[in-house]
Amino acid sequence: MEKRVYNFSAGPAALPLAALEEAQRNLLVLPGAGASVMEISHRSKPFGEILETAKSNIAQLLKLPPSYKVLFIQGGASLQFSMVPMNLLRGSEEAADYIITGSWGKKALKEAQKEGKTRVAWDGKEEHYKRTPLQSELSLNAKAPYCHITSNETIEGVEFQSFPDTGGAPLVCDASSDFLSQPIPIEPFGIIYAGAQKNVGPSGVAVVIIREDLLERAPQGLPTMLDYRVVAENDSLYNTPPCFGIYVIMLVTNWLLHTIGGLDKMADVNRKKAKMLYDVIDASEGFYRGHAARECRSIMNVTWRLPNEDLEAAFVKEAKSCGLDALKGHRSVGGIRASIYNAMTVEGVQALCDFMAAFKAKQG
Ligand SMILES: *Cc1c(COP(=O)(O)O)cnc(C)c1O
Repeated sequence: MEKRVYNFSAGPAALPLAALEEAQRNLLVLPGAGASVMEISHRSKPFGEILETAKSNIAQLLKLPPSYKVLFIQGGASLQFSMVPMNLLRGSEEAADYIITGSWGKKALKEAQKEGKTRVAWDGKEEHYKRTPLQSELSLNAKAPYCHITSNETIEGVEFQSFPDTGGAPLVCDASSDFLSQPIPIEPFGIIYAGAQKNVGPSGVAVVIIREDLLERAPQGLPTMLDYRVVAENDSLYNTPPCFGIYVIMLVTNWLLHTIGGLDKMADVNRKKAKMLYDVIDASEGFYRGHAARECRSIMNVTWRLPNEDLEAAFVKEAKSCGLDALKGHRSVGGIRASIYNAMTVEGVQALCDFMAAFKAKQG
């Protein structure tokens, strides 16, 4: 087999090797099923067990109270930009609050504006999305149908370190790029959603965690497939779900629970990896310049610039030739981005740190 690179892709992104190997071992015959997971009914007993395990793993990892449902929905995180306001905002007198800390939040807002009244409670645009707001900068409406945040802005590398106090309005969180990376307090959240392909599985499925009482808010007449109540009542099996994606989510969450040992342990590793990179950036005397304000730095997507774009291009190219892949920043912001999700190893991050030191010694 060709050698696997250290993959710093922002998404689809690296998956734990153990999960990939198990998928590979069971690709032709899922134990007990006599066929591949891609070839059996989504209403069969073996698939039912996969779905249950995936759900209960996520519930255990996040310590979800029983009032939260775990759903699997196609269409990625981007469909949730529309489903959230369709279900919770349509027909509401009050505006939904949106806190915009980067590119994905902006996209979420754009879809909500098509469904109802919205209010931008804070927008970091003037500071080039380098930080999250302080509580004192926010005036949130406690009666809003919800307040939307993006817990980690994947493109800018800016992450909430604590969550805004909404005064009671449910927080709706796009957690696509930091889902299951660390423990979070569940209680303020009405909905947490995440496209799987950053941290928990292949693309083609989003995990949606929703507090049960919000299911009652959906207006009549929504398209069946876009109604959270229908998804919940049918246990994500109204139609054929993305079976393979859900299977891999089960494998990855098994790994998180049983090999890593839960989200506290995962967070320790993730913080350690992020600190290794930020330490190199901070010690580089301005050769590497981090994008995010220190106190808002992401532990999943580390973003930085070099003195000029030619050096950035050379950095990406040379890194690739050393087996450090996909370090080019998002096309909208440029620079360098190292995505170091759960599956990225300390060893991989160390290899990148060593490369950064050597590159600076040569060019700096
Ligand atoms: C990648 C990403 C999305 C888009 O996800 P899709 O599943 O491709 O729709 C949305 N929000 C955040 C924070 C992301 O990182």
